[in-house]
Amino acid sequence: KMNHDLGQHVLKNPGIANAIVQKANLKQSDHVLEVGPGTGNLTVLILKAAKAVTAVEFDPRMAAELTKRVQGTPDAKRLKVMLGDVIKTELPHFDVCISNTPYQISSPLVFKLLALPNPPRCSILMFQREFALRLFAKPGDKLYSRLSVNVQMWAKVSHVMKVGRNNFSPPPQVESNVVRIEPRHPRPQLSFEEFDGLLRIAFVRKNRTLRSSFLGTTAIVGMLERNYRLWCSQNDVPVDDTPLTEVNDVDAMAVDGEDEEEWAGFSDADEDDELPDFFKQERDARKQNGAGRKKRGRVTELVREKIRKVLEDETQLVEKRARLCDEGDFLRLLYAFNQEGIHFS
Ligand code: SAM
Repeated sequence: KMNHDLGQHVLKNPGIANAIVQKANLKQSDHVLEVGPGTGNLTVLILKAAKAVTAVEFDPRMAAELTKRVQGTPDAKRLKVMLGDVIKTELPHFDVCISNTPYQISSPLVFKLLALPNPPRCSILMFQREFALRLFAKPGDKLYSRLSVNVQMWAKVSHVMKVGRNNFSPPPQVESNVVRIEPRHPRPQLSFEEFDGLLRIAFVRKNRTLRSSFLGTTAIVGMLERNYRLWCSQNDVPVDDTPLTEVNDVDAMAVDGEDEEEWAGFSDADEDDELPDFFKQERDARKQNGAGRKKRGRVTELVREKIRKVLEDETQLVEKRARLCDEGDFLRLLYAFNQEGIHFS
């Protein structure tokens, strides 16, 4: 009856459900978002401690069961059940988020919560243990990823409790952890998309040098070139598009040879650090028309030089690997790139 693809592991231990709600430190005035309420074991407890609950549930049968559970009680008026995928749903404002999170959406949910312009005061979220550990990972740790850097940039993460698999029905394969995520105050004066855009590039190959990540593929240089052109047009900076005829084919090929580092096996990328679609499109377009292979335009040369300057001269991070870079390194990189008119969103 349960749909395992939706990560439906119902919390059957009332002690744990109570502890989760207690750890949220709810106020009677709070509006709570619950993600994936299932049959409502957490929901009924949250309703006792808060003013209102919006519960987003993907499975209509679960949503129906939850609606039935509160029907006819005084709580019914304070519960709004929204049917749909929480990742695609436009959310109302809420003060606190509580979720026994379906494991497939752990990463997109965290990103969605972090990117909200008006984020909740606190989120109490249950995750699979390995996912939870990624949120805490530091430079050099095996689990250090784009997710770790982002979450620690925008929020304070803390451990709440471990939850064994037998507290669920049916029991999942792995153990779980509950974590608390509280946005940093004041919010860093930084664009979420810009910072994440830089991290995406750095972490696609987190075990390679930043030189390799930023200059090793024509697709990435090509994408940064397009962003640079857009920035130039928005800032009335003229670009010189006369063809660069003096570059002879052999030289251009030799430099572009760097590109032949495989695009195929991104074995060092984590699940959320896989190649974004626009990189794939850029690569395929370039493969097809051979752009960037024989002749490089002046703007491409200029952008390559700007990248080199940022990595070698401005930040001296050119030989460092993303898996060892800390938040300060990434912020310095972003600042230096932006100073050169190079943007990531
Ligand atoms: N909160 C309940 C509990 O603790 O007993 C159930 C938790 S169960 C791990 C996850 C719930 O999330 C399921 O009811 C599932 O149908 C729902 N779900 C899965 N994917 C979802 C999505 N993308 N958006 C909203 N709900 C989702």
